[in-house]
Amino acid sequence: MTATEQLADPTLARPAIPARQLFIGGQWVEAVDGGRTEIVDPATTEVITTVAEAGAADVDAAVQAARAAGPAWAAMPARERGRILHRVSLLMRERADELVATESIDVGKPVSLCRPVDVTTAADQYEYYAGLAQAIEGSTRSTGFPALAYTRREPLGVVAAITPFNFPLILSSTKLAPALAAGNTVVHKPADIAPLSALLMGEIFAEAGVPAGVVNIVSGLGPVAGDALLNHPGVDKIAFTGSTAVGRHAAAVAGEALVPITLELGGNAAQIIFEDADLDKAIGSAIKGFVFNTGQFCMAGPRLLVHSSLYETVLSILSQAVPGVPLGDPFDPETVIGPMAGEQHRAKAEGFIAQARAEGGRIVTGGGRPDLPGYFVEPTVIADLPNDSRVVQDEVFGPLLTVQPFDTEEEAIAMANSTAYGLASGLVTENVARAHRVAAQLDAGIVWVNDWAMLDPTMPFGGVKSSGHGREYGPEALDAYTRTKSVLVSLA
Ligand code: NAD
Repeated sequence: MTATEQLADPTLARPAIPARQLFIGGQWVEAVDGGRTEIVDPATTEVITTVAEAGAADVDAAVQAARAAGPAWAAMPARERGRILHRVSLLMRERADELVATESIDVGKPVSLCRPVDVTTAADQYEYYAGLAQAIEGSTRSTGFPALAYTRREPLGVVAAITPFNFPLILSSTKLAPALAAGNTVVHKPADIAPLSALLMGEIFAEAGVPAGVVNIVSGLGPVAGDALLNHPGVDKIAFTGSTAVGRHAAAVAGEALVPITLELGGNAAQIIFEDADLDKAIGSAIKGFVFNTGQFCMAGPRLLVHSSLYETVLSILSQAVPGVPLGDPFDPETVIGPMAGEQHRAKAEGFIAQARAEGGRIVTGGGRPDLPGYFVEPTVIADLPNDSRVVQDEVFGPLLTVQPFDTEEEAIAMANSTAYGLASGLVTENVARAHRVAAQLDAGIVWVNDWAMLDPTMPFGGVKSSGHGREYGPEALDAYTRTKSVLVSLA
């Protein structure tokens, strides 16, 4: 598929979503206690469907199914596992309209972005790890013994994949594609408010020939299904993406059980505009960094640090440009900013705006609530807050941008590194030496120069500090889903 085809988006209608069940052992089943969760369209606030709400008994059944399917999946030639994953990616592209419409109605994502970003990236991940499946290899070593010494890379077993609401499809494929390629089986618990694309993927896995029990999908509440999965003794690896608070809980459970865990947690990235920046690139990157996915973006760049010589110029350009970014119905192909995913998400963002006002922040644009039925917030730019303001330091997770001036490169780096988080960071400069010098000093798992949010399946992604540990994407992700065994065969 060409880039143009990926970007061309037919106008999609709001889909009718069937009531969904849990996907366990290759079967669609109700929760044992019959529980169901209502799923709301954040653009209309209407209930669009219900999904089965898993309890501990359902999670147990899913883990048992994954354990039963494990040995045959692990023993399957890697090339065959790769072929099956490749079929998953092909079916995702064939059913892209359905995936786009499902993800958009569930999360409030504009269809114009959901196709090129969410669906394409997720399909790319299955394709990438399909290819890498047969490149997972050990090596022979020269030892001091008369022995044939070699290493084997083996799957871990059952992976618990727990994901958040903001990029459901991408974040699930980020875990499932490498885990499956390496020969693990999976129990996946998507976010309670956005499980629809994960459940739709159950159909695609079955159609692609993923054997029953290799992938199990249990929609449900975090403290119920999520916690039951974290604490299940049949889980061999936890792959968690979500907030830092829940991540700490998951890490504590994993620590007690001595189960390996990958943690992809919150972020609060800075974008630095240096005095030698190309202003067009700088403004484009700044706006993308805080309005994309309505700011509900772990690698959003909600802190804009601007050289003092450009400070008022940048604020003036933002005050004119930001209100022009199309906001509205996610199913309008022109829309760039949709609603927030839920009422409490909007309330949290509005709370930060109120706090910024109370602290004397200058609202450069936005600050209000558009006159629309869904959970919309105006994209809001706030100047003049002190660096220790909670609005600057905390993860806002909404369409808010704080703008702060700096005078020197050292000051900019110190401000960029001054929060508890370290997921992403970025700078805009025309000075090549400065680009590399500053990139090396930023506390972040990924750094972008002269653009924002360039993500690719080949490039590792993950956090430092309170943004978590471990790396997803790239060949590095396979390290998180395999263990190395040493074998020494005496030749004496
Ligand atoms: P969340 O932490 O509330 O939920 C994440 C997942 O954990 C959900 O499936 C939820 O149901 C589950 N959960 C909640 N409580 C649980 C418990 N007690 N035991 C087990 N599971 C539990 O996060 P969210 O609000 O859905 O997502 C937003 C957060 O995710 C933000 O902080 C964002 O930065 C982060 N995030 C990080 C990345 C990354 O790659 N680092 C990517 C996307 C989102």
